[in-house]
Amino acid sequence: MIKRFFELQEKVLGYFKGADIELLKKAYLTAVEAHMGQMRASDEPYITHPLAVAATLAEMKLDEISVAAGLLHDVVEDSSVTIDYIKKEFGEEIGNIVWGVTKISKIPDLDVENAKAETLKKMIIAMTSDVRVILIKLADRMHNIRTLDAFRPDKQRRIAKETLEIYAPIAYRLGMGKIKATLEDSSFPYAYPEEYQKINDEIAGKKVWAIDKLQILQKEIRKILRKYKIRGDIEYRIKREISIFRKIKKQSISLDKVYDFLGLRIITNSIENCYIIMGEIHQKWKHIPSRWRDFINHPKNNGYQSIHTTIIAEIEKKAVMFEIQIRTREMHQIAENGIAAHWKYKEGITFLENDVRLKWFREMIEEHKSNPNPKEFISELKGDLTPNEIYVFTPKGKIISLKSNATPIDFAYAIHTEVGHHCKGAIVNERLTPLKTKLNSGDVVDILTSNNVQPSLDWLKIVSTSKARKKILNFIQKKENLHYIERGKKIWSRILKSYKKKFNLKHTEEELGERIAKLSYPDMDTFFRDLGSNKRILDKKNLKTLFPEIAITKIEPPKKIPKTVSTIHKLINVEGLQDIDVSLARCCSPIKGEKIKGYITKNRGLVIHKENCPNLSHLLPSRQKDVSWNKDEAYSHTVSYTLIADDKPGLLNAISGITADLESNIRNIGMEKISQTTCKVNISFDVSDHKQLNKIIKGFQKIKGVYSIIKKRPTI
Ligand code: MN
Repeated sequence: MIKRFFELQEKVLGYFKGADIELLKKAYLTAVEAHMGQMRASDEPYITHPLAVAATLAEMKLDEISVAAGLLHDVVEDSSVTIDYIKKEFGEEIGNIVWGVTKISKIPDLDVENAKAETLKKMIIAMTSDVRVILIKLADRMHNIRTLDAFRPDKQRRIAKETLEIYAPIAYRLGMGKIKATLEDSSFPYAYPEEYQKINDEIAGKKVWAIDKLQILQKEIRKILRKYKIRGDIEYRIKREISIFRKIKKQSISLDKVYDFLGLRIITNSIENCYIIMGEIHQKWKHIPSRWRDFINHPKNNGYQSIHTTIIAEIEKKAVMFEIQIRTREMHQIAENGIAAHWKYKEGITFLENDVRLKWFREMIEEHKSNPNPKEFISELKGDLTPNEIYVFTPKGKIISLKSNATPIDFAYAIHTEVGHHCKGAIVNERLTPLKTKLNSGDVVDILTSNNVQPSLDWLKIVSTSKARKKILNFIQKKENLHYIERGKKIWSRILKSYKKKFNLKHTEEELGERIAKLSYPDMDTFFRDLGSNKRILDKKNLKTLFPEIAITKIEPPKKIPKTVSTIHKLINVEGLQDIDVSLARCCSPIKGEKIKGYITKNRGLVIHKENCPNLSHLLPSRQKDVSWNKDEAYSHTVSYTLIADDKPGLLNAISGITADLESNIRNIGMEKISQTTCKVNISFDVSDHKQLNKIIKGFQKIKGVYSIIKKRPTI
């Protein structure tokens, strides 16, 4: 075994002369001792595993900290060595990495599946702590999957599927094409043994034919390179089993219909040469325009760059299709090693920490982290990790990559925010197409815009990319803010007018602006927005800052300024009963201003019903009590309604417009389709009395297409 360690040492010294070999030695000896006597399921000494993991890390040319942590990665989990010991002997950095790769607990849970999901969740979250934790986990999985033979078939299948669904996609997202492919190729036969066998048999029958055709084309392309004196390597391959499996499954086609069964890759030394080669290839053979992709100009999100094109060549009087990839050496390096391609000792770990792919990975996990259900967490994560991407084109041939299920609105936002905001219609493959149509790879999309169009909440149901979603929400938020700012300005000028008259104040706008600045608002607009959205910002303290020359006790806020919300206790006048609990009945939920009656309950104090509440008539008259609203107390009732309406764009805007105009806050609004043409809108909003409520309901009734307005019982 020591021989393997020396090989590892050589490997590390090979790319980094100054490596701390003593550290590696110490890590190796600690691991040997800790795993002493332990065996792998494959009957090999356990130490072969950490050695293999460390070797993979050295192949990625990682620093000695990573390699040492790789040697120690199973020590805490599988032996009596504690994490404190590792930290003491090897320092915080290695300690933290080892802790990150350690499966923190064997959680006691009756539900085995749940416990497994929980463990997996913890492990994935731990991956965000240090990028090296991810890399070690991937290297660990690589070796485990290669030694899967020793396990029972059900366990093999579980581990292989987990690798396909989680680990390989993580590698893909981090741009590590080589590791991703290795993980996939090793897992596929275990995860889907029958499908693998079938595809494998089919490929075997075509192999001789395929390699013959590939070599013929390779020669032809070599001629092109020679003609232009371009240096380049030409590799060829038959499509991998798992890729064929996915394609056949997704498009339900037979192997003959797989366009890119035969593939060639040209690796050259400059971007310019890539385009020269592409041009010559397109000149010489017919290519399929919808399958031409320029990832050099428009790299994939994970940094991948290449030109892809599919050509039809006539070989021995038969049309044969080839997929050709053209890229530079540097692009190739990045495609293979992704995040690990740029590892630089001088810049060390911080260089990697800023990698956009890593940020993306962390943000994604952050987003799902709070989900308390581990199974849901895993399945959401899988959904986000799986790169279901489509590639569509602008009329000028620019390639845009989108999530599958994307619509023309997603496309419009991918082009430009303004195109998205004003997108009125779409022409897909020269045909006018509704905005909610799902796009397919290869579609050519042209967006029609109009300045009269604005994003609406309805669009949120149509879009599938988070970019479009964010932009739409931003727009609506801004519009809402503008509305509040306008309203805030009006309120402010009303206040000023009344104060100026009352207290004979003579201030310029500027002076007042300076005073507003003292209220610790970042700018005037924020102040007006808060004022306009009924936030109670004009309290004694703030008024004193604004008008220090007035004795505050004298100030009466002008009528229209909302008062502080009162308690129910103060809101209701009860004759003769003091200190009794008061609450509003849930059955009829009376609103301030409606006729009411109190009922003295056994345990819940005085409950206020509407006078005409049917429940009241069943209750003892002797316990009923005359009550009235205290008109001087402000109160905020939250009411909930369901509206049934035609499912037309602009509906939610119309509804929220009415509540805003009538100075009510929306608490919650949501929409659901209930048939092809009809939908249901659930809305909760605040009202101060029944007059305001009636106005709002009348406003709703006037909206075109609203059939019915149903009051819902309050939830609180
Ligand atoms: Mn391991």
